[in-house]
Amino acid sequence: MLSYTEAFTLIQEQFQKIKLETETVHIEDAFHRTLAEDIISDINLPPFDNSAVDGYAVKYDGKITEWEIVGEISAGNFTEIKLTKNNTVKIMTGAKIPENCTAIIPIEDVEIENNSLKLITDSKYIKGMNIRNCSTDISFGEIAVTKNTYLKSRHLASIASCGKNNIKVFKKLKFGILATGDELIPVNEKPKDDKIRISNTYSLIGEVQDVNQEYINYGIVKDNKEIIKGKAHQILKSDIDILLTTGGVSVGEYDYLKDVFEELGVKKIFWCAFIKPGKPCYFGTYSKGNKTKLIFGLPGNPVSSQVNFKVYIKENVKNLFGIENTPQIKAELLNDLKKEDKKRHFMNGILKRVNDKYFISSKFSQSSGNMVELSKANCLIIIEEEHLNPKKGEVVKCIPM
Ligand code: AMP
Ligand code: MG
Repeated sequence: MLSYTEAFTLIQEQFQKIKLETETVHIEDAFHRTLAEDIISDINLPPFDNSAVDGYAVKYDGKITEWEIVGEISAGNFTEIKLTKNNTVKIMTGAKIPENCTAIIPIEDVEIENNSLKLITDSKYIKGMNIRNCSTDISFGEIAVTKNTYLKSRHLASIASCGKNNIKVFKKLKFGILATGDELIPVNEKPKDDKIRISNTYSLIGEVQDVNQEYINYGIVKDNKEIIKGKAHQILKSDIDILLTTGGVSVGEYDYLKDVFEELGVKKIFWCAFIKPGKPCYFGTYSKGNKTKLIFGLPGNPVSSQVNFKVYIKENVKNLFGIENTPQIKAELLNDLKKEDKKRHFMNGILKRVNDKYFISSKFSQSSGNMVELSKANCLIIIEEEHLNPKKGEVVKCIPM
């Protein structure tokens, strides 16, 4: 059976082949989108030499400490005034500096009497102080924000200053989500007898939204091969990029997904990897024309499907869209853990930071059916293949969530 790393690599290879389409969005809709073009400045920034403070513009002369006030310039209201070494102009932050201005003395460092400005005793001023020179931020024609940048608020300010209202970004991936199982009923119904409420679809919707992608919820289908096949066929013909099914992919009597995928022309890449939870995960591709969809048959157990998404899919989507990867954190175990096989385990844990050190505790059952336990955890503890029964005090890696 494939190891976790081998399975991840096979998935990564397919993600790396995805050629994202592009679209144009207004700058107001560009937050958390990924740039599909370099943003080039159409001006110098700042566009003119300007004042960094509210103060008085002077022509620097080290010996002079008194000037005659001859005018005022505020931001956006420039007036031509030529400074001599004996006069000064009141100037506001962001205002264009007057001719001959070589220093701006902050308002806090001066005293005013009638029309005369005096440097406060002990205050110093030096040549060039508080002047923001033209193009010190960026020059005309230079790249302000590079292609593939995942846009945060700080980038939006740069883009706006470069004069770009409409921005080319990569289109989001569209995930189709389909739940299978005779036992599943909608959330707003109360389960009777052997029924359970559908839950996987909602954790997966959350995961997809967490990486700012789109989804279509295809609902629930019964464990009936023809019905599943009909629905899967409809979804494969649609414009989704990635299909996530849950359930019906293990070795049970009514686990039809693998056969259905094969009959519909999905190319199997692997089924099952040596991990826990989430061993019976199916991965394949479906190609039509020049478009290839990635097909994930995730296990039905609620913890398994979430863990599979996190450890197989999430970081690949992040890489594709230039989103920072989730950092893995090393932490000291506060209790022993039970791991008796050589699978790669991803266990629920609680990560805590005390001063500069991280600690992990885990009293959870680790049952792949216990989604409420998973919801109480804040990290997945990674226990590597050869590492058996980790003991209190050992350092392990974890993925915060
Ligand atoms: P399966 O992979 O179909 O054998 O399902 C494994 C377990 O996960 C069973 O206990 C199912 O009832 C449960 N299960 C399957 N699909 C879902 C779902 N969408 N939401 C919650 N539990 C599910
Ligand atoms: Mg099932």
